[in-house]
This record gives sequence, C-alpha cells and structure tokens, in this order.
Amino acid sequence: MHNEFIRENLIKINKKIEDAARKSGRNIEDINLVAVTKTHPLDYILDAYELGIDSIGENRVQELMDKYYGIPKELNINFIGQLQTNKVKYIIDKVDLIQSLDRESLLTKIQNEAAKRGIIANCLIQINQTKDDNRAGIGYDEIEVFCEKIAACPNVKVRGLMCVAPLGLNEKEMRDVFSKMSLAFWRLKCYNIDNIVPEILSMGMTDDFELAIEEGANMVRIGSGIFGRRL
Ligand SMILES: *Cc1c(COP(=O)(O)O)cnc(C)c1O
Repeated sequence: MHNEFIRENLIKINKKIEDAARKSGRNIEDINLVAVTKTHPLDYILDAYELGIDSIGENRVQELMDKYYGIPKELNINFIGQLQTNKVKYIIDKVDLIQSLDRESLLTKIQNEAAKRGIIANCLIQINQTKDDNRAGIGYDEIEVFCEKIAACPNVKVRGLMCVAPLGLNEKEMRDVFSKMSLAFWRLKCYNIDNIVPEILSMGMTDDFELAIEEGANMVRIGSGIFGRRL
C-alpha cells in the first residue's frame, strides 16, 4: 500500500453504499462501485486494486493511454468522459465499458471500429437531464429513436443507462433526476430491442451516490470520496 488514506476512505464509502442499499431493500452485492481514478497516478489504481476494487473509471483518452500498461489486467476499465470520434480507435480494445455513448456519430464510429477488430463494444447510453443541447447526452424523448439505430449496430452492445446529475440541485430535485432515470431504465428493459441488454443503471457520484442508490442505481462512480480531491 502506498496511500493508507485510500483504505480508510473505501471503508467509509462501502459502509455508506451498504446503508443506502439496505434502505432500498437491496444487498451491497447488487451495487457495483466504479472507482474514478481520473487525474490520479497509477499507484492509486494499484492501491485500489489491492483493496479489492474491480472497476475503475477514466475520462480522458490520453491519460488512459499513459496509464494503460500499468493497469492490472483483471481490472475493468470504464470510459466515462466525452469521447471524440477520432479517438475511439485508441481505446476500443482497451476498455470494458464505454459509459458515455451520447450521440449518433459516436455510435457509428464505435460500431465501425469494433467491427474492424471483430469485437463487441459494451456501452451505456448517457442521458442528458437538461434541455440544454450543449450538454452531452441523449434526451429522454430521443431514447427510442436512438435505440432503433443501436439495433442496426451488431458490434455494439448497450448494457444500460448512465447520467451525471446537473449541479446545484436540492435533494428533492436530485431524487427526481434519479427516479426519472430509473423509469427510463425499466422502460428500456421492456422494449426488447436487438443489441440492447439493459442491466446497468450507472448514476451517483461522491456527493449524491446514496440518493442514487435509493432511487435504483446499481452502479455508482466515485472519485474524490475515495482518492481525495483532484489536482
Ligand atoms: C469525475 C467523474 C465522476 C466522479 O466524481 P466524484 O465527484 O469525484 O466522485 C463520476 N462520473 C463522471 C462521469 C465523472 O466525470
């Protein structure tokens, strides 16, 4: 262990996840924790791995490439940042889950790059919570049409939904965001569309993961709560 504080933070976070899970009638095993290691050095990743973390999250292609060869092969790598289409080729065979599938041009690119390599790319659809078109994500009213496009992409497998809650919401507004996501997730489960196997609802970060779990999240992405503030 290089950094003892990571152990202490993880114990606290796991306790909170357990409490939130219990509150919503679920087990801690049903909640997947992605440790968000963006901006942090490789030795933080190795510490997290040693402490039993099985999934990490990175949001920059270059940073992921720099760390990649030091990351233990057993770790699941989640890409959680906005992804430029011209960079898909660098990470497509390195990441286990692209959580930020947020537009049609990216879908097309992922399909093409995955097909070239004969692999299946696992993705989550990132949902935009605001009507603001500058923010990343598919709007609720666009999900169905987007799913039809996914059905035509045999090298893409969509495993669920992801969102980042807007900043500055009070508790009730945050619960609304998360419960709307839960509803969209359950609806997706009912669709029965090719290449879509909804099993992951990724929502909740350091400041809001307990509410997210209570509203149905089964994957939370936590960075500063485990590794401290980003530089
Ligand atoms: C940085 C980031 C996180 C983690 O944020 P914390 O507040 O540090 O827990 C989660 N999800 C995404 C998409 C991020 O970019």
